[in-house]
Amino acid sequence: MYSQDSISGRRRGRSEPTAEMLSGLACSVCGADFRQAHDGEEAVVSHRDDKQLLACHGTCARMATGSVTGLDEPPLPLAERMRRHVPPPP
Ligand SMILES: [Zn+2]
Repeated sequence: MYSQDSISGRRRGRSEPTAEMLSGLACSVCGADFRQAHDGEEAVVSHRDDKQLLACHGTCARMATGSVTGLDEPPLPLAERMRRHVPPPP
């Protein structure tokens, strides 16, 4: 029923971050939305282009970097990440 194209097009590999993850608005490991979180619950764990990839402080950061605090780098303020976030086209 499904063509090969639609199957591969729909597949969302876990290694492919969403727009929210790329903007630092969601955990790049578990996908938790940082817009609901308190300050200080996210840690920088990686970079993609010129953006920070964040993960939850603790378990997720350790999965991504081996350290519960991630990279030794402060994340951008949430307000700034929100401002830079460009939602994907529908
Ligand atoms: Zn997480």
